[in-house]
Amino acid sequence: MTVPGDIPGDDVPGTPHLLPHQRPAAVRAAAHLAAQLETYAPVACQVRPDTWWFPERGGSSEPQTAAIHLCAACPVTTACLDYALAADERFGIWGGTTPTQRTTLRKDTP
Ligand code: SF4
Repeated sequence: MTVPGDIPGDDVPGTPHLLPHQRPAAVRAAAHLAAQLETYAPVACQVRPDTWWFPERGGSSEPQTAAIHLCAACPVTTACLDYALAADERFGIWGGTTPTQRTTLRKDTP
């Protein structure tokens, strides 16, 4: 899984769709997650197949379900979800949430 560990300048890899005013929060969240991962690595998504967190369309839901369960026990779940929300990660499981769940969370956050 790709997690933000190398943050050049004020850029967050993979998030070109962010508006300029959204980028500082995403950069801060990425830096926080990267620091947490330095402390707790390896976490589950770093040692299991990427396809569990980024399943192909039309495939079995079992790997995704397993990923969500592993995220629930991950020591950096909160930082991971905070990053995914701030960076508007639109694909994959982050912090134990699906893209649809994150969309709902963003809509529910004032
Ligand atoms: S919460 Fe899940 S996706 Fe995030 S770092 Fe942990 S195992 Fe990986």
